[in-house]
Amino acid sequence: MFATTIAGSLPRPDWLAEPEILKGGWKLEGEELEAGKKRACEEWIRHQEAAGIDILTDGEVFRTHFVHSFLKKIEGIDQSKKTLMGIRDNRYDLEVPTVTGPVSRPAPVFLDDFKFTRSLTDKQLKITLPGPMTICDTIADDHYGSRPDMAMAFAELLNDEAKELEAAGADVVQFDEPAFNVFMDDVREWGIDTLNRAVQGLKCTKAVHICYGYGIEENIQWKETLGEEWRQYDEIFPSLNKSHVDQVSLECASSHVPLSVMSHLSDKQIMVGAVAVTADRVETPEEVAATINEATRYVDPERILPCTNCGMTPIAYDIALAKLYALTAGAKIARKAL
Ligand code: ZN
Repeated sequence: MFATTIAGSLPRPDWLAEPEILKGGWKLEGEELEAGKKRACEEWIRHQEAAGIDILTDGEVFRTHFVHSFLKKIEGIDQSKKTLMGIRDNRYDLEVPTVTGPVSRPAPVFLDDFKFTRSLTDKQLKITLPGPMTICDTIADDHYGSRPDMAMAFAELLNDEAKELEAAGADVVQFDEPAFNVFMDDVREWGIDTLNRAVQGLKCTKAVHICYGYGIEENIQWKETLGEEWRQYDEIFPSLNKSHVDQVSLECASSHVPLSVMSHLSDKQIMVGAVAVTADRVETPEEVAATINEATRYVDPERILPCTNCGMTPIAYDIALAKLYALTAGAKIARKAL
Protein backbone atom coordinates (compact mmCIF):
# COMPACT_ATOMS: atom_id res chain seq x y z
CA MET A 1 0.00 0.00 0.00
CA PHE A 2 1.24 3.49 -0.93
CA ALA A 3 4.40 2.30 -2.68
CA THR A 4 6.52 5.42 -3.16
CA THR A 5 8.25 6.52 -6.34
CA ILE A 6 9.61 9.68 -7.97
CA ALA A 7 8.66 11.42 -11.23
CA GLY A 8 12.13 10.82 -12.65
CA SER A 9 14.92 13.33 -12.38
CA LEU A 10 16.98 14.32 -9.34
CA PRO A 11 19.52 17.14 -9.05
CA ARG A 12 22.93 16.45 -10.51
CA PRO A 13 25.63 17.10 -7.90
CA ASP A 14 27.47 20.39 -8.33
CA TRP A 15 30.80 18.68 -9.06
CA LEU A 16 29.15 17.08 -12.12
CA ALA A 17 26.97 19.80 -13.65
CA GLU A 18 25.84 23.37 -13.10
CA PRO A 19 23.33 22.98 -10.25
CA GLU A 20 19.71 24.07 -10.02
CA ILE A 21 19.14 24.69 -13.71
CA LEU A 22 17.41 22.36 -16.13
CA LYS A 23 20.08 22.15 -18.81
CA GLY A 24 23.14 22.66 -16.63
CA GLY A 25 26.29 21.98 -18.61
CA TRP A 26 28.70 19.26 -17.54
CA LYS A 27 31.72 20.24 -15.49
CA LEU A 28 33.74 17.16 -16.48
CA GLU A 29 34.65 15.70 -19.84
CA GLY A 30 35.62 12.46 -21.50
CA GLU A 31 36.16 9.43 -19.29
CA GLU A 32 35.94 11.56 -16.16
CA LEU A 33 32.46 12.66 -17.19
CA GLU A 34 31.31 9.09 -17.86
CA ALA A 35 32.67 7.95 -14.49
CA GLY A 36 31.13 11.00 -12.81
CA LYS A 37 27.65 10.25 -14.18
CA LYS A 38 27.90 6.70 -12.86
CA ARG A 39 29.02 7.89 -9.46
CA ALA A 40 26.14 10.38 -9.30
CA CYS A 41 23.70 7.65 -10.31
CA GLU A 42 25.00 5.27 -7.64
CA GLU A 43 24.76 8.00 -4.99
CA TRP A 44 21.11 8.64 -5.85
CA ILE A 45 20.31 4.93 -5.89
CA ARG A 46 21.78 4.63 -2.37
CA HIS A 47 19.91 7.76 -1.22
CA GLN A 48 16.62 6.45 -2.57
CA GLU A 49 17.19 3.07 -0.92
CA ALA A 50 18.11 4.68 2.39
CA ALA A 51 15.03 6.93 2.23
CA GLY A 52 12.85 3.88 1.57
CA ILE A 53 11.63 4.78 -1.91
CA ASP A 54 10.02 1.66 -3.41
CA ILE A 55 10.33 2.31 -7.16
CA LEU A 56 13.65 3.98 -7.97
CA THR A 57 15.05 5.80 -10.99
CA ASP A 58 18.58 6.69 -12.12
CA GLY A 59 17.69 10.33 -11.33
CA GLU A 60 18.21 10.99 -15.06
CA VAL A 61 21.74 12.07 -14.12
CA PHE A 62 23.07 10.69 -17.41
CA ARG A 63 21.06 13.27 -19.38
CA THR A 64 21.14 17.01 -19.98
CA HIS A 65 17.56 17.33 -21.25
CA PHE A 66 14.60 14.96 -21.07
CA VAL A 67 13.89 15.14 -24.81
CA HIS A 68 17.10 16.21 -26.54
CA SER A 69 19.28 13.62 -24.80
CA PHE A 70 17.15 10.98 -26.51
CA LEU A 71 16.97 12.75 -29.88
CA LYS A 72 20.74 13.13 -30.14
CA LYS A 73 20.98 9.42 -30.97
CA ILE A 74 18.16 9.43 -33.53
CA GLU A 75 18.84 9.55 -37.28
CA GLY A 76 16.72 11.68 -39.60
CA ILE A 77 17.32 14.75 -37.43
CA ASP A 78 19.70 17.49 -38.49
CA GLN A 79 21.09 18.74 -35.17
CA SER A 80 22.81 21.67 -36.88
CA LYS A 81 19.73 22.86 -38.78
CA LYS A 82 18.14 25.02 -36.11
CA THR A 83 14.58 26.23 -36.50
CA LEU A 84 13.00 28.87 -34.26
CA MET A 85 9.88 27.28 -32.85
CA GLY A 86 7.15 28.23 -30.36
CA ILE A 87 7.20 25.56 -27.69
CA ARG A 88 4.11 24.35 -25.76
CA ASP A 89 1.67 26.38 -27.88
CA ASN A 90 4.07 29.35 -28.14
CA ARG A 91 4.67 29.60 -24.39
CA TYR A 92 8.29 30.28 -25.30
CA ASP A 93 10.50 30.31 -28.41
CA LEU A 94 13.51 28.05 -28.80
CA GLU A 95 15.96 27.24 -31.56
CA VAL A 96 15.51 23.51 -32.01
CA PRO A 97 16.98 20.82 -34.29
CA THR A 98 15.00 19.87 -37.37
CA VAL A 99 13.65 16.54 -38.64
CA THR A 100 14.79 16.32 -42.26
CA GLY A 101 14.07 12.66 -43.12
CA PRO A 102 12.44 9.48 -41.78
CA VAL A 103 13.50 9.00 -38.16
CA SER A 104 15.27 5.83 -37.09
CA ARG A 105 17.15 4.55 -34.05
CA PRO A 106 20.40 2.95 -35.23
CA ALA A 107 21.32 1.78 -31.72
CA PRO A 108 19.78 1.71 -28.23
CA VAL A 109 19.88 5.13 -26.56
CA PHE A 110 19.65 4.57 -22.80
CA LEU A 111 20.29 0.82 -22.59
CA ASP A 112 23.90 0.91 -21.34
CA ASP A 113 23.09 3.52 -18.67
CA PHE A 114 20.08 1.48 -17.63
CA LYS A 115 22.04 -1.78 -17.40
CA PHE A 116 24.55 -0.04 -15.15
CA THR A 117 21.74 1.29 -12.93
CA ARG A 118 20.07 -2.12 -12.87
CA SER A 119 23.33 -3.67 -11.61
CA LEU A 120 23.25 -1.37 -8.55
CA THR A 121 19.98 -2.42 -6.95
CA ASP A 122 17.46 -5.23 -6.58
CA LYS A 123 14.64 -2.81 -5.91
CA GLN A 124 12.03 -1.95 -8.54
CA LEU A 125 13.44 0.36 -11.16
CA LYS A 126 11.68 2.83 -13.43
CA ILE A 127 13.12 4.32 -16.62
CA THR A 128 11.71 7.46 -18.22
CA LEU A 129 11.45 8.27 -21.93
CA PRO A 130 10.08 11.37 -23.67
CA GLY A 131 6.55 10.92 -25.00
CA PRO A 132 5.86 11.09 -28.76
CA MET A 133 3.69 14.21 -28.62
CA THR A 134 6.14 16.10 -26.43
CA ILE A 135 8.99 15.16 -28.78
CA CYS A 136 7.03 16.66 -31.67
CA ASP A 137 6.54 19.82 -29.64
CA THR A 138 10.28 20.08 -28.95
CA ILE A 139 11.67 19.58 -32.45
CA ALA A 140 10.92 21.15 -35.84
CA ASP A 141 9.52 19.16 -38.75
CA ASP A 142 10.78 19.57 -42.30
CA HIS A 143 9.85 16.09 -43.47
CA TYR A 144 6.58 14.57 -42.20
CA GLY A 145 4.31 17.57 -42.71
CA SER A 146 1.93 16.30 -40.05
CA ARG A 147 2.41 16.15 -36.29
CA PRO A 148 0.38 12.94 -35.85
CA ASP A 149 2.48 11.20 -38.53
CA MET A 150 5.75 12.37 -37.01
CA ALA A 151 4.58 11.42 -33.51
CA MET A 152 3.66 7.93 -34.70
CA ALA A 153 7.11 7.49 -36.26
CA PHE A 154 8.71 8.44 -32.93
CA ALA A 155 6.27 6.20 -31.04
CA GLU A 156 7.49 3.22 -33.06
CA LEU A 157 11.12 3.77 -32.21
CA LEU A 158 10.31 4.61 -28.58
CA ASN A 159 8.51 1.28 -28.40
CA ASP A 160 11.63 -0.53 -29.62
CA GLU A 161 13.71 1.29 -27.01
CA ALA A 162 11.17 0.51 -24.27
CA LYS A 163 11.12 -3.18 -25.15
CA GLU A 164 14.91 -3.38 -24.82
CA LEU A 165 14.78 -1.60 -21.47
CA GLU A 166 12.07 -3.98 -20.30
CA ALA A 167 14.20 -6.95 -21.36
CA ALA A 168 17.11 -5.45 -19.39
CA GLY A 169 14.99 -5.43 -16.24
CA ALA A 170 12.93 -2.23 -16.18
CA ASP A 171 9.94 -2.70 -13.89
CA VAL A 172 8.28 0.52 -15.05
CA VAL A 173 8.65 2.41 -18.32
CA GLN A 174 7.32 5.95 -18.06
CA PHE A 175 6.65 8.34 -20.92
CA ASP A 176 6.88 12.05 -20.11
CA GLU A 177 4.14 13.98 -21.90
CA PRO A 178 3.98 17.55 -20.52
CA ALA A 179 2.52 18.59 -23.90
CA PHE A 180 -0.65 16.64 -23.02
CA ASN A 181 -2.18 19.44 -20.96
CA VAL A 182 -1.47 22.04 -23.66
CA PHE A 183 -2.95 20.40 -26.76
CA MET A 184 -6.04 18.80 -25.28
CA ASP A 185 -7.86 18.32 -28.61
CA ASP A 186 -4.78 16.72 -30.16
CA VAL A 187 -4.47 14.38 -27.19
CA ARG A 188 -7.94 13.03 -27.87
CA GLU A 189 -7.51 12.97 -31.65
CA TRP A 190 -4.11 11.31 -31.89
CA GLY A 191 -2.01 11.72 -28.72
CA ILE A 192 -3.49 8.69 -26.96
CA ASP A 193 -2.99 6.59 -30.11
CA THR A 194 0.70 7.47 -30.29
CA LEU A 195 1.11 6.83 -26.55
CA ASN A 196 -0.56 3.45 -26.98
CA ARG A 197 1.81 2.69 -29.85
CA ALA A 198 4.79 3.58 -27.64
CA VAL A 199 3.72 1.09 -24.93
CA GLN A 200 2.49 -1.59 -27.33
CA GLY A 201 3.40 -5.14 -26.27
CA LEU A 202 5.14 -4.10 -23.05
CA LYS A 203 4.49 -6.43 -20.12
CA CYS A 204 6.12 -4.25 -17.49
CA THR A 205 4.21 -1.44 -15.80
CA LYS A 206 3.53 1.44 -18.19
CA ALA A 207 3.29 5.00 -16.89
CA VAL A 208 2.71 8.48 -18.22
CA HIS A 209 3.87 11.66 -16.50
CA ILE A 210 2.01 14.83 -17.40
CA CYS A 211 2.59 18.10 -15.60
CA TYR A 212 2.47 21.87 -15.83
CA GLY A 213 6.25 22.22 -16.03
CA TYR A 214 8.74 23.47 -13.49
CA GLY A 215 12.06 25.17 -13.30
CA ILE A 216 11.74 27.79 -16.03
CA GLU A 217 10.32 31.29 -15.78
CA GLU A 218 8.04 30.85 -18.84
CA ASN A 219 6.17 28.04 -17.12
CA ILE A 220 5.71 30.09 -13.97
CA GLN A 221 4.26 32.97 -16.03
CA TRP A 222 2.00 30.64 -18.02
CA LYS A 223 0.60 29.10 -14.86
CA GLU A 224 -0.33 32.55 -13.59
CA THR A 225 -2.74 32.80 -16.55
CA LEU A 226 -4.54 29.55 -15.75
CA GLY A 227 -6.71 30.89 -12.95
CA GLU A 228 -7.47 29.53 -9.49
CA GLU A 229 -8.30 25.99 -10.58
CA TRP A 230 -6.32 24.15 -13.26
CA ARG A 231 -8.92 21.98 -14.99
CA GLN A 232 -7.05 20.99 -18.20
CA TYR A 233 -6.93 17.39 -16.98
CA ASP A 234 -10.74 17.23 -17.07
CA GLU A 235 -10.47 17.29 -20.86
CA ILE A 236 -7.92 14.51 -21.30
CA PHE A 237 -8.25 12.14 -18.32
CA PRO A 238 -11.42 10.41 -19.61
CA SER A 239 -9.51 9.46 -22.80
CA LEU A 240 -6.41 8.61 -20.83
CA ASN A 241 -8.45 6.28 -18.65
CA LYS A 242 -9.13 4.22 -21.80
CA SER A 243 -5.45 4.17 -22.83
CA HIS A 244 -3.10 1.22 -22.35
CA VAL A 245 -0.94 2.83 -19.65
CA ASP A 246 -1.25 1.61 -16.06
CA GLN A 247 -0.16 4.69 -14.13
CA VAL A 248 -0.84 8.42 -14.51
CA SER A 249 0.82 11.20 -12.52
CA LEU A 250 -0.85 14.19 -10.92
CA GLU A 251 0.79 17.08 -9.09
CA CYS A 252 -1.12 17.42 -5.83
CA ALA A 253 1.32 19.25 -3.53
CA SER A 254 0.89 23.04 -3.39
CA SER A 255 -0.91 22.88 -6.71
CA HIS A 256 -3.95 24.45 -8.32
CA VAL A 257 -5.09 21.12 -9.73
CA PRO A 258 -8.36 20.08 -8.08
CA LEU A 259 -7.81 16.53 -6.86
CA SER A 260 -11.33 15.63 -7.96
CA VAL A 261 -9.98 15.28 -11.54
CA MET A 262 -8.64 11.90 -10.40
CA SER A 263 -12.22 10.63 -10.51
CA HIS A 264 -11.79 10.38 -14.31
CA LEU A 265 -9.04 7.77 -13.86
CA SER A 266 -11.02 4.98 -12.25
CA ASP A 267 -9.05 2.23 -14.05
CA LYS A 268 -5.56 3.61 -13.41
CA GLN A 269 -3.03 3.81 -10.64
CA ILE A 270 -2.23 7.41 -9.73
CA MET A 271 1.22 8.74 -8.94
CA VAL A 272 0.09 11.31 -6.39
CA GLY A 273 2.58 14.19 -6.32
CA ALA A 274 2.96 14.87 -2.61
CA VAL A 275 6.13 16.96 -2.63
CA ALA A 276 6.50 20.03 -4.84
CA VAL A 277 9.44 21.09 -7.01
CA THR A 278 10.06 24.17 -4.88
CA ALA A 279 13.36 24.92 -3.28
CA ASP A 280 12.20 27.23 -0.50
CA ARG A 281 10.88 24.62 1.88
CA VAL A 282 10.60 20.89 2.53
CA GLU A 283 7.15 19.47 3.17
CA THR A 284 6.63 17.91 6.59
CA PRO A 285 5.71 14.21 6.71
CA GLU A 286 2.32 15.29 8.08
CA GLU A 287 1.71 17.49 5.03
CA VAL A 288 2.64 14.60 2.73
CA ALA A 289 0.28 12.30 4.65
CA ALA A 290 -2.50 14.89 4.37
CA THR A 291 -2.06 15.07 0.58
CA ILE A 292 -2.20 11.27 0.30
CA ASN A 293 -5.22 11.23 2.58
CA GLU A 294 -6.95 13.85 0.43
CA ALA A 295 -6.32 11.70 -2.66
CA THR A 296 -8.06 8.73 -0.99
CA ARG A 297 -11.30 10.72 -1.22
CA TYR A 298 -11.21 10.10 -4.98
CA VAL A 299 -9.05 7.00 -5.49
CA ASP A 300 -8.92 3.61 -3.73
CA PRO A 301 -5.81 3.54 -1.53
CA GLU A 302 -4.40 0.53 -3.36
CA ARG A 303 -4.24 2.60 -6.57
CA ILE A 304 -2.18 5.42 -4.99
CA LEU A 305 1.60 5.77 -5.38
CA PRO A 306 2.98 8.76 -3.44
CA CYS A 307 5.41 10.56 -5.74
CA THR A 308 7.15 13.84 -6.42
CA ASN A 309 5.13 16.41 -8.41
CA CYS A 310 7.68 16.43 -11.22
CA GLY A 311 11.40 16.01 -11.87
CA MET A 312 13.57 17.50 -9.12
CA THR A 313 16.49 18.68 -11.29
CA PRO A 314 15.80 22.41 -10.73
CA ILE A 315 16.21 22.35 -6.94
CA ALA A 316 19.17 22.02 -4.61
CA TYR A 317 20.57 18.56 -3.97
CA ASP A 318 20.07 18.61 -0.20
CA ILE A 319 16.51 19.92 -0.48
CA ALA A 320 15.61 17.18 -2.97
CA LEU A 321 17.12 14.57 -0.68
CA ALA A 322 15.16 15.90 2.31
CA LYS A 323 11.98 15.76 0.21
CA LEU A 324 12.55 12.06 -0.51
CA TYR A 325 12.66 11.40 3.24
CA ALA A 326 9.54 13.54 3.77
CA LEU A 327 7.77 11.57 1.05
CA THR A 328 8.46 8.16 2.57
CA ALA A 329 7.80 9.34 6.13
CA GLY A 330 4.48 10.82 5.00
CA ALA A 331 3.50 7.61 3.20
CA LYS A 332 4.24 5.70 6.40
CA ILE A 333 1.96 7.96 8.42
CA ALA A 334 -0.78 7.61 5.79
CA ARG A 335 -0.42 3.80 5.83
CA LYS A 336 -0.77 3.72 9.61
CA ALA A 337 -3.79 5.99 9.58
CA LEU A 338 -5.63 3.78 7.12
ZN1 ZN B 1 6.91 17.06 -14.95
